[in-house]
Amino acid sequence: MRDPELVCTGCGVAYAIDSLIQRCAACNEPVEVRGDVRGAQPRTHGTLLERYQELLPFSGIDARLSLGEGNTPLIRARQLESILKVGSLTLKIEGQNPSGSFKDRGTVAGVMWSLAHGIRRVGTVSTGNMGGSVAAYAARAGLPCTVVTSPDIPTQKLGPIGIHRPSLLRLTDGYGDAYETSLRLRDSTGTYFINSDDPFRVEGQKTLALELLEQSAGQPPDVVIVPVSSGGNACALLKGFREWAEAGLGDTLPRLLCVQSSGCAPIAVAFDQGEMRPVEVGEPSTIAHAISNTNPPSGARLLRELRNGDRGLALSVSDREIEAAQLLLAEEEGVFVQPDAAASLAGLTSAVRRGLVGPDERVTLILTGHGLKDPSVFERVQIDVRITSSSGLGSALSRS
Ligand SMILES: [Zn+2]
Repeated sequence: MRDPELVCTGCGVAYAIDSLIQRCAACNEPVEVRGDVRGAQPRTHGTLLERYQELLPFSGIDARLSLGEGNTPLIRARQLESILKVGSLTLKIEGQNPSGSFKDRGTVAGVMWSLAHGIRRVGTVSTGNMGGSVAAYAARAGLPCTVVTSPDIPTQKLGPIGIHRPSLLRLTDGYGDAYETSLRLRDSTGTYFINSDDPFRVEGQKTLALELLEQSAGQPPDVVIVPVSSGGNACALLKGFREWAEAGLGDTLPRLLCVQSSGCAPIAVAFDQGEMRPVEVGEPSTIAHAISNTNPPSGARLLRELRNGDRGLALSVSDREIEAAQLLLAEEEGVFVQPDAAASLAGLTSAVRRGLVGPDERVTLILTGHGLKDPSVFERVQIDVRITSSSGLGSALSRS
């Protein structure tokens, strides 16, 4: 990327690329990297950031920080295709990233940027996946790390974060407020918070869109479906699609279907009501903890993107639909995902029913995290086990 700078996604004010600004000083909306990517080409080998370096604002890549993120499978889901009656359905298995979620793409970029700019401590405010990811990459980089988690995070989800030995803080309240507070702590504590909409996290995150289009080999999906919490990843996908076209790599771009849980859907409700900012919702109540954010920092930005460019839509699905989708993925395709990741399939089911996705359309689901990261599903779903002796195996099998 040539001549990168940081530009406010709300009011358009520009800042120097090295200014370490995360939100606009004038309007408090997220800033994003903009630059010239015309003629940029992906490479065929190297780490994730090396492969897409020509589309990224980094003049050099420190490959030592990589844990092998990205390059996740895009697989066809033929059984679900016939159940749901869509033209074609592919699954982007982001749970196969090193810490088990899509967050690693953005984390490696954010940690690399921090190190290159003299930051000596990183942090994040996270409902789980981002905490585990930042803790892992900070450990690899030898950086001290602080992870601030939400009050309702299940105890089982603390393990994959705490195993990397960050300073782990669990809030008693105010998850949305903690995000705002964290950004002000850089000057007083020296901690750089690589939160969901940090502009360099978004740069790493946009590789999900680039990789998906590259894997689709000239046949991009018509619709990409993604679970949405803060809105940062959805905005990164739209940015990746846009820059793919700006680079001259393709001109048919997917539309984005953003899915929230109806137990916490400030963006989907706002989209439905024609609002340009996320609406206030009450206390979140959903099994999809990783997309449970009452105050999404990139919510207004995402709503602007969806409305202004007519590039997609947002909807919500119930916990019952999410759990049914989680089981369907496991039983029909052998893919075990977190409840929040399954929201993408629940969203597709709802969109097909409502005529928002047509029977001939090519669809890709972003499956954001691995099922083993949230074992709470085993408390809700009965796993049937029959007891037998070894001599009784034959008769047990004949009854299967
Ligand atoms: Zn601004």
